[in-house]
Amino acid sequence: MRDGWQEQFADAQDCLIGPKRPRTILHVLDIEIGGDAFVTMAGPCSVETERQLLSTAERVCRAGAQILRGGAFKPRSSPYSFQGLGMEGLRMLARARAATGLAIVTEVICEADVPLVASYADILQIGSRNMENYALLEAAAHSRRPILLKRGMMATVGDLLRSAQCIVSHGNPNVMLCERGIRSFETATRNTLDAGAIVLLKQISHLPVIVDPSHAAGYRELVSGYARVGVAAGADGLIVEVHPEPEQAWSDGEQSLTLEQFEAMMMGLKPWIALAGRGAWSRDEREQFRSLSVASGIRSSGFSLRESYGERITAGSESTETGSLR
Ligand code: PEP
Ligand code: MN
Repeated sequence: MRDGWQEQFADAQDCLIGPKRPRTILHVLDIEIGGDAFVTMAGPCSVETERQLLSTAERVCRAGAQILRGGAFKPRSSPYSFQGLGMEGLRMLARARAATGLAIVTEVICEADVPLVASYADILQIGSRNMENYALLEAAAHSRRPILLKRGMMATVGDLLRSAQCIVSHGNPNVMLCERGIRSFETATRNTLDAGAIVLLKQISHLPVIVDPSHAAGYRELVSGYARVGVAAGADGLIVEVHPEPEQAWSDGEQSLTLEQFEAMMMGLKPWIALAGRGAWSRDEREQFRSLSVASGIRSSGFSLRESYGERITAGSESTETGSLR
């Protein structure tokens, strides 16, 4: 890594990649995050009803998601908006896990709730609005659950890494960094997806990086495109909002995919995931890709694949959601 970055991010020392700190692979149930395979987390913004959650869980599971997302405690932009079902929401998540086998990621918004939420969740989500709530980060670290740390909407990459360092330094190395869009002067989208931050984080940190296209875009029409950008930038996984009836959603309906749109997105992502070297390669192909990547100094990205594999791999065209490997 560049000396300048070493200095710039020196206060997040334990999160930086180096000879003594190879890539972190998190283990959640039987899922590996940050390993060879790309991981998908999907589900509603908020847990609303048993039917809503279960029908979503079953469909996203069948479409290839491994982890169910859903907020039981919601930090909202307005204090007058729906704040989540709380305890009842956690119980519904546990029932959805029992029914489908999906792991659960759900947000914890205050220190006092950590033991309760950690007793239901497989992964604790720390939301953007709490990225710098150090008391919460410390309590979450002590739960020993893996943590999905979302980048604050006004936070730099350095700020995000500093918060990750806070968790790691309290004895919990199981952190994922989540790029979910930042505030910019652009108003046509809810936030601005900082794809460059994903590339940078994969260069400087050993922690897995997850892209959230839903909160970045704010509109469902953009979500699958943003997801593709995340895959191409080298993300290890995706967290995406899905709802059986987005128009009726109690929160973030405009950016939630329908179940059918989620299935189409998952199909459409396949060739891009393979192109990024994270898909269903044979062992030989993966080894060949690794040695070619190492030889050409490229880490964890598929940009050299076309040259490496010549005609053998072709991604789906931009205009279709269902490109396939040929
Ligand atoms: C969410 O995941 O529903 C959420 C509130 O995300 P963020 O903290 O990124 O706004
Ligand atoms: Mn949301």
